[in-house]
Amino acid sequence: MNQLPIRDLMTRDVLCIEPDASLDRVIELMHTKRRSCIVIVDGRSPVGIITERDMVKILSELLVMCPTRKFTVSDYMSAPPVCINQDASLYEALVITQARRIRHLPVLDAQENIIGILTQGDIAGAHFQAVEQQREIIERQISERTQELIEANEELKALSLQDALMGIGNRRAMEVDIQFTHSNASRYNRPYCMALLDVDFFKKYNDHYGHQAGDEALQEVASCTKASIRSSDRLYRYGGEELLLLLPETLIEDGAMVVERVIGNLQQISVTHEHSPFGKLTLSAGLSAVDAKGGDDHISEWQDAVEAADKRLYRAKEGGRNQLVWIDEVKKLT
Ligand code: GH3
Ligand code: MG
Ligand code: MG
Repeated sequence: MNQLPIRDLMTRDVLCIEPDASLDRVIELMHTKRRSCIVIVDGRSPVGIITERDMVKILSELLVMCPTRKFTVSDYMSAPPVCINQDASLYEALVITQARRIRHLPVLDAQENIIGILTQGDIAGAHFQAVEQQREIIERQISERTQELIEANEELKALSLQDALMGIGNRRAMEVDIQFTHSNASRYNRPYCMALLDVDFFKKYNDHYGHQAGDEALQEVASCTKASIRSSDRLYRYGGEELLLLLPETLIEDGAMVVERVIGNLQQISVTHEHSPFGKLTLSAGLSAVDAKGGDDHISEWQDAVEAADKRLYRAKEGGRNQLVWIDEVKKLT
């Protein structure tokens, strides 16, 4: 952990602006790109930085300048807030803040009353401590008991949110995220949908091009999918060559458009697969929805939504692959 160079940790997609840019532009950029800071540059050289804190300072000055106008917080707040229960684990907090791109989590007791707030700093500190503890255990035992070493290593792995090969969320983080999304959707009557995507004829790809090429193809599929979705959508490795796409606040018709775009974009980048009838790598997908007003019937648990998506994925395979199924044939007939 300590040895990881900064360049492997940093976000490369940094927003920059010239010193004479207007404040309107800064506000618009922070708002639309959901950034908490913008670097001021002269050419490529940083000469300043403007953060949310600076914006608060500017705002307070503006408010003093127009004392007659009444602003109320309810006009601007994010609602409903994403909260976490006091008994949730550090891992859950990590997944939720990463998946939702939020930095503050109000903490609730069993009666859903606020008892505290967890910041990204708190979580990062605790996570770092946990990882360090595991690392120390491993180092202490490195020359001794192999079994305990394996267990400690497993725990270290369990702290991970990402799938190492595909660079997207792992299965464990996925379960936490879906469960949380599902209970929030039920509580606030919000819709969400999810898609299971499976690479077609992938066994043949591996057999023909080799496992290493297979791994690279999976990375290609993951990055193409990531590039085809919105930043609020979440992508996880469901297992093997299957991905799960979680689309919060999305109705099934809109979800279908997203998944069709993913399938189309993969076709577009055209990764050669000689042993597929399509001549390239393709995806099949099944989409299901949870919606207070007429989503898929009988979905009361998040696992039902996964099952529904899986059944439709199976139909997409049966129907010839390289396609999405999002309405049951039975429903189409009635
Ligand atoms: P279908 O179109 O029905 O989905 O057929 P398929 O061949 O894709 O499905 P199948 O389940 O028969 O085979 C999946 C293959 O994916 C077999 C497995 O070796 C391969 N696979 C799973 N995970 C990985 C991985 O991490 N790397 C590589 N290279 N291959 C993987
Ligand atoms: Mg599969
Ligand atoms: Mg497959």
